[in-house]
Amino acid sequence: MTYKIAVIGSGPAGFYTAEAILKLADAPEAPATVEIDIIECLPTPFGLVRYGVAPDHQSIKTVARAFDRTARADAVRFFGNVRVGQDVSIGELLELYDAVVLATGAALDRQLGIPGDGLPGVIGSAAFVGWYNCHPDHVGLDPDLDVRAVAVIGVGNVALDVARLIARSPAELAGTDTHPEAVAALGRSPVRDIYIIGRRGPLEATFTPQELKEFGEMERAVALVDAAQLPGDAAGVPEKEFTAKKKNLAILQDYARNRGDEKPVRVHFLFHARPVGILGGEHVAGIRLERTVVEDGRLTGTGETFTLDVGLVVPAIGYRTAQISDVPFNEDHGHFETRDGQVRPRLYAAGWARRGPTGTIGTNKSDGQAIARHIFDECTPDPARQGRRGLRALLAARKVEVVSFTDWQLIDAAEVEAAQGQGPRLKFTQVDDMLQAVHAAAGDKDAAK
Ligand code: NAP
Repeated sequence: MTYKIAVIGSGPAGFYTAEAILKLADAPEAPATVEIDIIECLPTPFGLVRYGVAPDHQSIKTVARAFDRTARADAVRFFGNVRVGQDVSIGELLELYDAVVLATGAALDRQLGIPGDGLPGVIGSAAFVGWYNCHPDHVGLDPDLDVRAVAVIGVGNVALDVARLIARSPAELAGTDTHPEAVAALGRSPVRDIYIIGRRGPLEATFTPQELKEFGEMERAVALVDAAQLPGDAAGVPEKEFTAKKKNLAILQDYARNRGDEKPVRVHFLFHARPVGILGGEHVAGIRLERTVVEDGRLTGTGETFTLDVGLVVPAIGYRTAQISDVPFNEDHGHFETRDGQVRPRLYAAGWARRGPTGTIGTNKSDGQAIARHIFDECTPDPARQGRRGLRALLAARKVEVVSFTDWQLIDAAEVEAAQGQGPRLKFTQVDDMLQAVHAAAGDKDAAK
């Protein structure tokens, strides 16, 4: 008997789930073989690894090599360029497959929900990161970077990614796969001050020491923080976070000794300040912040406000999963509603789509393992379900141009070649161009026959 399983999304959660299912199916006591189809809305696999991980953090992207191995397994097929909810519905997938896993990540920005947050010049981190990472949905963003000051809201690792990319010199971004237009636009920008703004204190910040430390080693930017905002020690921090928070504090204490005139760009860490309004008429002209105090981790506004003159505001305050019709959704937390990963019988969610945008790429591994076990424990293979054969027929009838993993390898090769050794790859920015690259390569092969 064969379990036919559809995994929707080809980022870390999707690939770790597929890997875990393969492992269970390989075990001697496995009740059945498996057929796993990974369905992805873009022609390209790897989701967050390709479009979320910062382009100056190439080493993190090497995790895609493990995903690549999974994709090449005999039991696995990649269905790229297929939009669930548009080309095929969840109901149809549940008719075709014994189990369906939603591993769609969290691609949407959470809103600040304060006056002015819809002004031009307020750009959520999902869009901003997508822009410099060449995501087809965001590559046309064209942010106005003709500004002298930028506010990045939030003190998580995404906020640090955004601030660091803005602060980097073109030379530092050379040799990466940053969108060339983004490198040029950032290089032209007269930006001099970048504020990274936490509504609570340094000990509550969720950024990690390794990422924080990078601001001490930048070519054209110096990191600054007011020593008066830093507590003397990390007392009161829960034990499991203590070491990291202590390291953060030590790094910030170093930054407090820096001088603002050391380098042309200043990165200011600002704590105990929550945004209460974005100012401006036709475009962002500033941000109003309220000073806060924190007691037992909880924040209270003091009523005292101040304003920063900034021309760009990037809220990096967390993400939401995109909803899919007929799938229950937890509005408060912005992810699918599940009971221990199960949405309803035979339908599961994994990764950020299950638990929200927290943890590292590796956190999705245990998530995938748990979902794989659920599938084997709770689902029964039904030979009447057509699986892959049925999906292929349905998509062919709807004239959907499916991109296979072999097709992706052609896209991949074209991107690597286009970089001409100047970086790991020059990414395509448009879906049509990716499809064109597949056609061209397939044409070359036919001509060579
Ligand atoms: P995060 O770590 O949860 O940070 C979100 C930040 O936004 C927090 O500082 C939060 O403050 C703040 N925030 C939320 N709502 C706010 C509001 N209304 N006003 C002001 N501030 C607000 O999430 P993230 O930075 O988006 O990262 C997502 C996950 O990916 C994290 O687990 C992160 O570590 C991971 N990641 C890792 C790397 C890396 O390892 N290099 C890179 C990028 C992302 P409060 O704490 O006060 O709520």
